[in-house]
Formats: sequence, C-alpha cells, structure tokens
Amino acid sequence: RAKEDGRGLWRFFESRMDADNRERRMLELELSQAIREGELELHFQPLVSAETQDPLGFEALVRWNHPIRGMVQPAEFIPIAEQSALIREIGDWTIREACRKAAQWPGELMVAVNISARHFQLSDIAEVVRLALRESGLPGERLELEITESLLIEKTDDVLERLREIKAEGVAIAMDDFGTGYSSLSYLMKFPFDKIKIDRSFVSASSEDTVARDILRSIIMLGETLKVRITAEGVETQEQVEFLRGIACQQLQGFYFARPLNPADLAHYFIDHFRKTRLRDADMPADV
Ligand code: C2E
Ligand code: MG
Ligand code: MG
Ligand code: MG
Repeated sequence: RAKEDGRGLWRFFESRMDADNRERRMLELELSQAIREGELELHFQPLVSAETQDPLGFEALVRWNHPIRGMVQPAEFIPIAEQSALIREIGDWTIREACRKAAQWPGELMVAVNISARHFQLSDIAEVVRLALRESGLPGERLELEITESLLIEKTDDVLERLREIKAEGVAIAMDDFGTGYSSLSYLMKFPFDKIKIDRSFVSASSEDTVARDILRSIIMLGETLKVRITAEGVETQEQVEFLRGIACQQLQGFYFARPLNPADLAHYFIDHFRKTRLRDADMPADV
C-alpha cells in the first residue's frame, strides 16, 4: 500500500514536471514571437536627486504585455530568455528601445538599462550600444548600463575589455543590487564602475535595523573613497528618504517617488514635472 502510494506520488510529480516543462516550452515559443508582435514594452522608473527630489533619469524595466496572460513581469520571463538565448534578441531590443525613447525626453535626463550576464556573453554589447546611440541620436553620456556581479565572476579580462569599450562611448556602468552577491569589494577595485546601486534589502531593513543603517553609511563612504555615485533602490518611506539624505546618498529610486511608469503614466509624470521644474512646455516631447 505504502509502496503504491509512493509510486502514485511519483507519477504525480512526473506529470507535474511534464506540465511545467510544457508550460516553459510554450512560454519560450511565445516569447520568441513577442518582439515581432510588439508585445514587449519598457516601463520607466524615475531616479531622483536626493537633494532636490527632481528626476535625473529613468531605469528601463521590461514588461511582456501578453495577449492572454496580461502583463508578465521580468522575473517570470527573463530567466526563460536567459536559458534559451532569446535574451540576446530581447536584450538588444531593450537597449535600442530605451535609447530611442530617452532621445525624445526633455532636458538632459538619462536612461539606465539592465544587462543580464548571459546577454553580455551572447551579444556584442559594445556594438549594439554604438548602433543604438547612432540611430537614436542619444549622447552616450545619457546612457547607463546596470550590470550585476554574476557577470564579473568569469573571464575577467574579456569583460573588462568590453566594459572599457562601452565606456569609451561616454556610457556609464553601474553595479546593480550591490551587497547581495559575492566579494563585491574586489570587483569594485578591478572594474571601472561609475555608480553603485545599493540593493533594496538594505534600504528596507534600515527602518528597523541599526546594523543596516551602519552598512548603508559605510557604503556611502566607500562610494566617496572610490569616487563613484551611489543610488539607493527600493525607497518606500519618507523616513528612509530623510535618513538617506542625511548620510549624503546622492540618488534615490523607489515607490515613494514613483512606481515603474507605463507610457501613459510617464507622459503624465512629465507634465507634472514640467510645472514644477525649469523645463518649458515647449520642450514637451510628443512621444515619450
Ligand atoms: P532591478 O534592476 O534591481 O530593478 C528594480 C526592481 O525593483 C524593479 O522590479 C522595480 O519595480 C522594483 N522596485 C523599484 N522600487 C521599488 C520599491 O520601492 N519597492 C519594491 N518592493 N520594489 C521596487 P521589476 O521591474 O519587476 O524588475 C525586477 C528585475 O528584473 C530587475 O531588478 C532586473 O534585474 C530585471 N529586469 C527588469 N527589466 C529588465 C531588462 O530590461 N533586462 C534585464 N536583463 N533584466 C531586467
Ligand atoms: Mg515587479
Ligand atoms: Mg536595475
Ligand atoms: Mg536592483
């Protein structure tokens, strides 16, 4: 009896696994058509100056607007894309689309694009960046690439060489999710970062935890030593804003200021900020 139950359970797991595999293959197939069908879109979350709270630029966050599943979040499809080499197409598209949009924004606003380690391996990112800048007219100084430590683990010299090539275009390199990976400090010495983005787990813990506040303070000091800019992600409360300003963190990002904005919300965001800032209505872009 027990044996049979065991087998039944196993069969259940097997069919569950089959179902998961089928689901995954299905998503993969649909994803391969998503770009062509125009189903991918970028949402943009502002990065603001801690001092003035004015927007300095936006991080591009990809969404898959699936005809049946609705808005699919990157956590659900980026891993699938990474396993299937589709990340190359999606990643290249993201760079070009982000530059195309940012070139139409008012003022000197910058755009930040997330680059997955697998995309970096599969694509000639420097060439894609050059093309994206050329075809959009966006100055390289207004583009930032966000990479994570997983990229830096292997083939150090090759990665370093290619990061230098990208920086030669004026493009900035940010280390994303700082503090969550391995040996962050040695990577900071080896790689030419312009910015560190502190992972939101530290910001969120800082409300309760004095150790988290001490760590945040130390990261700011580290940034001053290395002469890199520091952004805190995941800022959700006024109290966090005040603490981070107090320790001289320069840039802030999080739901407290704005969620990632879809195209319609982004247009409204610009209108609101035109009223408040030096930007004139005449500079208002037609298509953001
Ligand atoms: P990330 O680069 O660290 O992006 C920040 C994530 O934190 C975004 O989630 C954003 O919506 C969320 N977030 C921002 N502020 C807050 C806050 O105050 N509280 C909380 N709880 N969350 C906040 P999203 O858009 O779901 O993206 C998740 C991750 O997916 C990103 O983490 C990034 O690693 C990846 N991703 C997003 N877009 C792309 C892309 O175009 N290419 C690649 N390769 N990865 C992407
Ligand atoms: Mg999300
Ligand atoms: Mg990011
Ligand atoms: Mg992050």
